[in-house]
Amino acid sequence: MIYLDANATEPLRPEARDAMLAALDVTGNPSSVHQAGRAARRILEDARETLAGRFGAHAANLVFTSGGTEADALAIHALGRDHRRIIIGATEHDAVRAACPGATILPVDRDGLADLTRLETLLRDTPSALVCLMLANNETGTIQPIREAAHLCRARGALLHVDAVQAAGRIPVDLRQLGAHSLAISSHKLGGPAGAGALLLASGMDHLAPLIAGGGQERGRRGGTPPVSAIAGFAAAAAAVSSNGLAPLRDQMEQVALRCGAVLCGAGAERLPNTTCIALPGVRADAQVIALDLDGVAVSAGAACSSGKVAASHVLTAMGLGPIAGEAIRVSLPWNVTEADGARFAGAYERMAERLTHALAPRAA
Ligand code: PLP
Repeated sequence: MIYLDANATEPLRPEARDAMLAALDVTGNPSSVHQAGRAARRILEDARETLAGRFGAHAANLVFTSGGTEADALAIHALGRDHRRIIIGATEHDAVRAACPGATILPVDRDGLADLTRLETLLRDTPSALVCLMLANNETGTIQPIREAAHLCRARGALLHVDAVQAAGRIPVDLRQLGAHSLAISSHKLGGPAGAGALLLASGMDHLAPLIAGGGQERGRRGGTPPVSAIAGFAAAAAAVSSNGLAPLRDQMEQVALRCGAVLCGAGAERLPNTTCIALPGVRADAQVIALDLDGVAVSAGAACSSGKVAASHVLTAMGLGPIAGEAIRVSLPWNVTEADGARFAGAYERMAERLTHALAPRAA
């Protein structure tokens, strides 16, 4: 099986596994004052230092969470208080969308880039808004102009939360350089284990109202005993990330798909080097995913499938891609992908396209 679904979850990095195994041997609750507790706390605080350093925040301004979903929810809960109007990008992940029902939606263009002129107008009308924009999209890899958005927000006294879950580990991510007020990251998207994530806060933003108060851990910002081994793996994975140079392989794979009649989604924008979103006009995304899976290649469909019906991806729909919004697959290369995997994909894609496009009935008008 060739695994090309890294944006769902990355394979565990060996450095993360080693750090987790070492941490599992340390018995102790980081809140306990005795030596065992202090040993666990040391692992936790070392991980905090590593991650904060890697992503441009002070260690004291990093709050561990259970993952990206909780980090987004915490940011929206804490920064969106006091009846701030919330504005979110049209292609945000459900982790953000579900945390702020009724939010104002900021449109995107055909490549998935947020309309900053519209943002400026919205902020003129409601200066003290909370704006949520993702750094990189999970389906297309489109990278948003966050620095420009941060500039607009700061000029109007608005707050900017950035979901960097897919970007972290794949492109440089630095909270200070981005100019955002908060940043969500997730361990399993960068080669650590699932079950750990973090919210990084800009200076002056570190007093957060918790979503889960519990026993006051994380300086009162997130209650609950932290999963020390998962967090150790998270930090080790982040430290092991190196510039991955995956774009040339991704581009070669795209050429194969284009020769088969595919259409690339979001390819006019700057994108994550490991991600491509490929539509095969007239062929349902789930049929493509199943055919590739049977041929030993794991990819995913942006479109969600429930009760046998494929719902078009909200991301591709927001990009105005019309019928192909339900006909696109996401191919996302993991950190350990090889040239041979690329060649296997090419063969499987050609076979799939040949078979499914020949079986096509003309699309209903
Ligand atoms: N944000 C984005 C952009 C994502 O792609 C995901 C997961 O796919 C999440 C948030 C949620 O992260 P987690 O799985 O760590 O809860």
